[in-house]
Amino acid sequence: MDKEMHYGSDYKYIPATSIGSGAGIEVMPDLFCYTVQIVNLCFAGNPDHQEFVIVDAGMPHSADEIIAVAEERFGANSRPKAIILTHGHFDHVGAVIDLVKHWDVPVYAHQLEMPFLTGQKSYPDPDPTVEGGMVAKLSPLFPNEPIDLGSHVRMLAADGTVPHMPDFKWIHTPGHTPGHISLFREKDRTLIAGDAFVTVKQEYLYKVITQEQEISGPPRYLTTDWKSAQQSVVKLEALQPAAAVTGHGLPMSGELLTTSLKKLVKEFAEIAVPDYGKYVGQIDRKTH
Ligand SMILES: [Zn+2]
Ligand SMILES: [Zn+2]
Repeated sequence: MDKEMHYGSDYKYIPATSIGSGAGIEVMPDLFCYTVQIVNLCFAGNPDHQEFVIVDAGMPHSADEIIAVAEERFGANSRPKAIILTHGHFDHVGAVIDLVKHWDVPVYAHQLEMPFLTGQKSYPDPDPTVEGGMVAKLSPLFPNEPIDLGSHVRMLAADGTVPHMPDFKWIHTPGHTPGHISLFREKDRTLIAGDAFVTVKQEYLYKVITQEQEISGPPRYLTTDWKSAQQSVVKLEALQPAAAVTGHGLPMSGELLTTSLKKLVKEFAEIAVPDYGKYVGQIDRKTH
């Protein structure tokens, strides 16, 4: 019954980094954002209670690092109750199989992301021709084959509840991928946005390295449905988040987040959508 889990056949270490790599930021007392090379994951849970969940699973070959961070924050031999995935791109599932093996925990994701997590379907090829910088040009090197989590991955409940994160609700924010989700906590308006929008221009290598803070749409080279991506950003802005952790870049909060998100909604075609690239076709460029 328990199928052998495996990564995609093109799974490999990607030599890319940022000044944030190996550092963590406590965004809230119960929300710790940690950067593995160029991607963020969240440890959600109060260290005093030693109950926590991990949102996303880092880069390929980062499991030992993630386990060490978990033990440092929650105590030796501590383990999460679950791993929640915002989506299944390689930089968000990079260590997930090793983590499942080490901790024996379930993984949860949106129904529409399942084919990419159970070995059935590859994501569309990254677009190296998209307008943008060096990271976009490097994107054909990125692992693209689906991983197979077998019976270890489960579907999120349709009612929006998130296992072991009682105050959070998941919100479907497709566009970057079909089953992309964000997580939102109403009481303090905390948002975990995945790659629905990010706070660094992820296509540009020097901006990734320096983590210069600047709101941006989803990473361009992997985004295939710009219309849905736009609707997802509109949905998230309407929540009026007070703090946001994104899949890439530093967390953003307060006035900067509010004005940046407003700007992104208003100027989505200009800020987020590349001027050219093979997935750009269907976007409406009229300003609203
Ligand atoms: Zn992504
Ligand atoms: Zn990403």
